[in-house]
Amino acid sequence: MLHRFLTLAFLITAHLVSAQQSKTEEYLLQQEQIRKTALLRELDSGVFYMDEGRYTTADQKFKYVLENIKSVPSDLVFYFGKNSFQLGQYKQSIDWLNKYIQLKGTNGQYSQEAVMWLKKAEAEFVKEKKTESQKAEELLSVNYEIDCGPSGLVMCPVCKGEHVIIKPGAFKNEYKTCPYCNEHGVLTCEEYNKLVRGELKPKF
Ligand SMILES: [Zn+2]
Repeated sequence: MLHRFLTLAFLITAHLVSAQQSKTEEYLLQQEQIRKTALLRELDSGVFYMDEGRYTTADQKFKYVLENIKSVPSDLVFYFGKNSFQLGQYKQSIDWLNKYIQLKGTNGQYSQEAVMWLKKAEAEFVKEKKTESQKAEELLSVNYEIDCGPSGLVMCPVCKGEHVIIKPGAFKNEYKTCPYCNEHGVLTCEEYNKLVRGELKPKF
């Protein structure tokens, strides 16, 4: 009898604890959602200022989102690259625009625009190198966790999705299986973020 009572008491307690836990989780999830919504609003207002030609204000908004968001949305990768060009931060611009193109290939919403700004930024960067002017500190994308979008997959930038690396030789080319991606030439988002930081270990 006592044993049964204790079992019952235990079950009720366990149930209450787990209900409490899921409430806490739900609350935390809600808070996270609210935070994210607020950050995306900041991002939108950054885009608004950029379109108005107020690039410094846009830059502040974008940087605030970059510093506070868990995983950087690909839209922001593009906007930050474009806005950096407007501010004369050409190296930074090249870095982020390249990242967008790497993430989205030629089919992204902003791919064409990204390629256009990238060309401009590269041209300006070459000119600038010749004059060797002093620059403000650059913010590079490698220091941020990038969100690869709903598929969570990225074409492997090492082998360009071929899963084969071709080393041109004097007599014949050497073919090597890419040690980073899977047989489809694809990386998971986690692998991609590690790769660009030089932290992804080759599989063989
Ligand atoms: Zn590869």
